[in-house]
Amino acid sequence: MSPIAGRLRSIIRDPGRIRQAEPLKRHTSIRIGGPADYLIHVADRHELSGLLRLAGEEGLPVYILGSGSNLIVSDEGVRGLVLRLTGEFGQLAIDGSTVRVGGGCSLPKLAHQVSQLGLGGIEFACAIPGTVGAGLVMNAGAHGGDLAQVVTEVTVMWGDGRLERLGPREIGFGYRSTRLQGTSAIVVEVVMALRPADPAALQGAMRQHLDRRRATQPLQHPNAGSVFKNPPGDFAGRLIEQAGLKGERVGDAQVSEKHANFIVNLGQATAKDVLTLMDRVRSTVKQRFGVWLEAEVKIWGHNPWFLP
Ligand SMILES: Cc1cc2nc3c(=O)[nH]c(=O)nc-3n(C[C@H](O)[C@H](O)[C@H](O)COP(=O)(O)OP(=O)(O)OC[C@H]3O[C@@H](n4cnc5c(N)ncnc54)[C@H](O)[C@@H]3O)c2cc1C
Repeated sequence: MSPIAGRLRSIIRDPGRIRQAEPLKRHTSIRIGGPADYLIHVADRHELSGLLRLAGEEGLPVYILGSGSNLIVSDEGVRGLVLRLTGEFGQLAIDGSTVRVGGGCSLPKLAHQVSQLGLGGIEFACAIPGTVGAGLVMNAGAHGGDLAQVVTEVTVMWGDGRLERLGPREIGFGYRSTRLQGTSAIVVEVVMALRPADPAALQGAMRQHLDRRRATQPLQHPNAGSVFKNPPGDFAGRLIEQAGLKGERVGDAQVSEKHANFIVNLGQATAKDVLTLMDRVRSTVKQRFGVWLEAEVKIWGHNPWFLP
């Protein structure tokens, strides 16, 4: 056993939660991504701070993986530690209309559970296939709602293992952005203030959201959701479609015929295919309309094909 593997074992007692050379294509919604040196299921804050300390001492990069629904991982994979928040990070506690939820909890699970209890405000998230922590960092939203509208407090663990509670002002919510992006902050817990609502009405709204998704999004093929952010006052999908790029292909990566801001994996697409296609889409839209599209997906690892 390598010295690092030995040290990991002393922090994560259950060896089944440490996977070496794990292909990340198994963990991304677009089914692309080379191996992570280590993929570790982290069960609590104590383990998380221990892993961060180890990574700091050994000079290992750390990546936090949620549901992998907003990610393009390079074909070479990533070096260092990829951490997935499980155990206590998936938990949910409800007190009146206040909800305290771990950063690893899934957004659809949260939306469905609280709606059954007659709590509204988060039903927009029923069709966002990600986790609370990742959703918080990018202020995920849909159907006119976003996390900024319900979040009152966030607990983060910084890269040095320090815990801190932040209020909305410190989080700095914007359109699909917060000030936490690009920092070492790991979202471990989120507090939300919801509002009492009729459970049947909430279920009805969620059914409508899900039906609309099925009608407008290419859910039959692996994808990573919207590839580009909407530019101010416009829609990335409209610009890409108007540029004549629907159906454009690089290898098995294709601009969806159904929704132009989605790139689908038709089978054997690589990260290189997707990133080359993203670059082509962005330069064509820039040439045609003078609009520079910003990536919404996050890109991990080696990437000379698309400059974020
Ligand atoms: C079919 C489909 C539909 C989608 N629809 C929407 C939509 O309507 N609205 C929308 O906003 N998004 C949408 N998305 C995108 C995606 O689901 C969201 O961005 C979601 O918040 C990503 O969550 P994740 O757990 O999958 O994150 P991942 O893809 O695993 O990670 C994304 C980023 O978040 C970071 N991260 C993960 N967990 C944490 C944490 N606990 N603390 C700090 N950083 C963390 C990762 O390091 C990475 O940089 C859609 C995606 C798909 C595939």
